[in-house]
Formats: sequence, structure tokens, C-alpha cells
Amino acid sequence: MKVIISHDVDHLTSVEHLFDGVQLKLFARSVLERMNQVISADEYGKRIDDLFKTQWHHIDELMDFDKANKIPSTFFFAMTKGKGLNYSQTAVMPVIKRVMDRGFDVGVHGIDFQDPQKINSECLAFKEIFGKSDFGIRMHYLRMDENTLDKFDQNGFCLTHLNLQTKPRTELARCGNSLCISWIPMNFIRGIRYRKKKSRES
Ligand SMILES: [Zn+2]
Repeated sequence: MKVIISHDVDHLTSVEHLFDGVQLKLFARSVLERMNQVISADEYGKRIDDLFKTQWHHIDELMDFDKANKIPSTFFFAMTKGKGLNYSQTAVMPVIKRVMDRGFDVGVHGIDFQDPQKINSECLAFKEIFGKSDFGIRMHYLRMDENTLDKFDQNGFCLTHLNLQTKPRTELARCGNSLCISWIPMNFIRGIRYRKKKSRES
């Protein structure tokens, strides 16, 4: 078995969330979880501290860790905004280049799973940055319906993410004449690790 770690990039800065309610939700959730003793005072302090930090990603630290430990990993970046993800193509482009320069795989963090034109435009935008067409997609919140994989297939994507609950592996492996890999989500999407009882820490 080969394990490939994937990193979905949902946030770059806190500033991009000034008006979309994400910061407010994070604050309210942290207060509630602290009141119910789901998180420790230390964890609560870190979260509140994070709200006032501009940078909301740890991509460089993740790359350092993955390199040091020889962990192959793929970073997925969105080409459009949606569902709590609010950074622009202009903002993310230098980050993608930085990740590519360090030799990591990159792919699209897909937003639209129904509209073929929007799927295609995400694909084309990423192709422009990536310079080649052999890249994959992993959906934001793993959203999909029964037609999504066909729409990926018909709109430029070669590789797709794996969701064993909704599609058999054989069907996922179909992608024309191109190299086919099923991406298995093994990442900690929000960096949350569960501890005994109901306590959890970022
Ligand atoms: Zn996401």
C-alpha cells in the first residue's frame, strides 16, 4: 500500500474572512467548546490568538516537515471561492509556485461539482498556473453527486479523488488514455486530532 498525504488549502489569511462570518463562527465555536470543556484553556487561547494573526496557513512548515521526513504529499489549491473558502487566484498563485518549486505535487481543490462550465474554468485556470494538464482534483468538503466524476472526465481533469461510499474503485479509475490515480484522503482537514473523552486540540 502506498500512502499519499494530501493537504487541502482552505485559507491563506484571516483578512480574506473579514466579511464572510468565518472568524465570527470560529470565535463562537471556541467559546462554546471552552464553556463545555471540550477544549483546554491553552487550546482556547491559541485559537483566539490565531484570530488576530494575518497568516492562516502553515504550508511552509508542512513542506519542511514532509521534506525532513521524506513524506510524499500533494497540496490542493482552489481556483475560485466557495463555502468558507475565500482567497483569490492572484493571492494563491505565488503560494502554488512556491510549493511546486520545492518539488511537491499540486492539484485543484475543487469548488463546483455540478456546473460543467464552472468545473472547466477551474481546470483551465489551474492549467494556466501549472503549465501542464496532468493534475488532479480533490473536492472542497468532498462534495459530489452521481454525475460529478463524469463531468470531471469531460472537462479536463485526469485524476480524481476517491469516495468509496459513492463510487466503486473501478469506475474511479477510468480517465481516458492518461495516467490514473485515485487520491485517498488521509489528511487532517482542520488539523484537529481527537483525544480521549471529548477533548480535542488543534
Ligand atoms: Zn476544503
